[in-house]
Amino acid sequence: MQVSVDRDRCCSSGMCVTNAPAVFEQDDRDSLVRLRQTVLLPEQFDDVLLASELCPGRAITVTGDEPARTGV
Ligand code: SF4
Repeated sequence: MQVSVDRDRCCSSGMCVTNAPAVFEQDDRDSLVRLRQTVLLPEQFDDVLLASELCPGRAITVTGDEPARTGV
């Protein structure tokens, strides 16, 4: 899975950084979102999907298929 952001839609809420700080950061100059990485590791999927759902600006897009997970 991959993630992208639309900085024009970002309103600097910081919700994404709270939920997935390894993937998102906020620019020191304008507080808008920046990506630390675009290709996600499987263990990051849930946090990034949650960040996307909670983003008030609808600025986060997650693409690609989530691989099947093995059972516990
Ligand atoms: S949650 Fe959305 S609006 Fe808030 S900083 Fe992240 S991308 Fe921007």
